[in-house]
Amino acid sequence: MVATDTTTAEAGRDFVRDIIQADLDAGRVTEVVTRFPPEPNGYLHIGHAKSICLNFGIAAEFGGRCHLRFDDTNPTKEDQEFLDSIEQDVRWLGFDWGRHLYHASDYFEQLYEWAEHLIRAGKAYVDDSTPTEMRAMRGTLTEPGQESPFRNRSVEQNLDLFRRMRAGEFPNGARVLRAKIDMASGNMNLRDPVLYRILHATHPRTGDAWRIYPTYDFAHGQSDAIEGITHSICTLEFEDHRPLYDWLIENLPVPSRPHQYEFARLNIAYTVLSKRVLTRLVHEGYVSGWDDPRMPTLAAQRRRGVPPAALREFVRRVGVARAYSVVDLAQYEHAVRDVLNKTALRRMAVLRPLKLVIENWPEGHTEILEAVNNPEDPAAGTRTVTFGREIFVERDDFMENPPRKFFRLSPGREVRLRYAFFVTCVGVVKDPAGEVTELRCTYDPATRGGDAPDGRRVQATLHWVAAADAMAAEVRLYSTLFARPDPGADGDVMADLNPSSLETLRGCLVEPALAGAPVGEAVQFERQGYFCADPDNAGRLVFNRTVGLRDTWAKVQATDGRNA
Ligand code: ATP
Ligand code: MG
Repeated sequence: MVATDTTTAEAGRDFVRDIIQADLDAGRVTEVVTRFPPEPNGYLHIGHAKSICLNFGIAAEFGGRCHLRFDDTNPTKEDQEFLDSIEQDVRWLGFDWGRHLYHASDYFEQLYEWAEHLIRAGKAYVDDSTPTEMRAMRGTLTEPGQESPFRNRSVEQNLDLFRRMRAGEFPNGARVLRAKIDMASGNMNLRDPVLYRILHATHPRTGDAWRIYPTYDFAHGQSDAIEGITHSICTLEFEDHRPLYDWLIENLPVPSRPHQYEFARLNIAYTVLSKRVLTRLVHEGYVSGWDDPRMPTLAAQRRRGVPPAALREFVRRVGVARAYSVVDLAQYEHAVRDVLNKTALRRMAVLRPLKLVIENWPEGHTEILEAVNNPEDPAAGTRTVTFGREIFVERDDFMENPPRKFFRLSPGREVRLRYAFFVTCVGVVKDPAGEVTELRCTYDPATRGGDAPDGRRVQATLHWVAAADAMAAEVRLYSTLFARPDPGADGDVMADLNPSSLETLRGCLVEPALAGAPVGEAVQFERQGYFCADPDNAGRLVFNRTVGLRDTWAKVQATDGRNA
């Protein structure tokens, strides 16, 4: 299913921006303050890009500011590596938080004071129930919960126990601090939610200073209030938490009153945008790391050659709405191609080489030809390529017995070699198994540069590399990490992994201009797609396919039902 919100996106408006404009018009706010609040428990993914572009975009459009705040309330899952990668990825996407970098852990002391405030007001209590007991008393969506036997402890006793929790007197899980709201509430989040738990864990920022940590629910809204966030924009799964956030804000002496608005998460077909699953992929070794180019993380997309402008454009096209939708993967690839088509230099690379010998070309002779760097951008200029008697073409570009509609090379057929000459296949050499190992051709010297003076036409133009100076390269072709559009819909998501998501081609040949291709910067391999040098490049050439070009022959094959 493809569902997008192009009408609002094209107008540059959406319901969140409309709300903000109305708040400004009515004078309810004078300055717009938003934040992007990741938990540093993994790398950012394409879904986060939507939230980043929304929050930072709004701040820029309305002349406000956007904070980067780490909601670092769970030291057992958090790591400095994640904090660093998140900062790098937000910057890479093109956004700047200026001096507004914050951490929920900066507020631990304040949050603790507010917890005591609730205790003193009789609105929070220490519960000694075990996690199993608490779960049993929680009730269900249709039945109310039961009140804990510890719910009516005195303020003094609660304060004493809570302070001893802080002092580290009790083991993990022995007690929690809970808000005293309503065990019969229709909203499970209001059934005396946990505010603090005991966790003897070292925090990446506060070290061993704390033996208790606030829950995400207790830290999140109060952190927004401390920072003066005016519009707390988050995804729909937090809609049911809003009454709890509002309850906390109303019952605490917070310095400001944020308002929360929810939008639908970005979902992409064949893709999982959940840090929990992405963490499993990394830890269980299904991918080479968080930046494996098959991963939907921003680090992986960068390594794969996706430019940040393509991510911003994709997110803009998808728009912001409240309705659940799954975006077609083609829409993402389309945005990537649109950006790369304008910027990527064209180069020639042969992925599955087949030798072609030009019989009427003098032995040892070479010619220097001019090749265009980017037809979309004349300023990109030209380069030279060397042509000679022996070249390599793509194995797929030859068929000994071509079916109808195959217009490329075959015995007796003339084609153009890009930027070079017309050649005609006059014979083939085969190995004992009958496989074609070499093409024998003749060329027409009058077609230098690619046009015949007599006006005769050919139906195909092939890319090629010269045997004399081609360089060996490894090329990694990626397809979707999952084999079905809705991974995990029928059970374990790992069972839906695509066993052929990575194809590594080791015998590729590329033109020498690719030797200096900067890591991560996409180039177009003519007729193949967009590729970029991988960081594994040390001492050899390794390229990642960012995204393919649309392949007309694949379409013909599909619609014709033919087998090449
Ligand atoms: P995950 O489910 O991948 O663990 P998360 O929501 O727990 O994601 P956070 O670090 O809490 O990850 O996310 C930071 C912000 O990014 C939140 O405001 C969250 O709503 C938003 N966000 C996360 N995933 C998406 C998504 N798929 N689409 C849009 N926004 C997202
Ligand atoms: Mg989260």
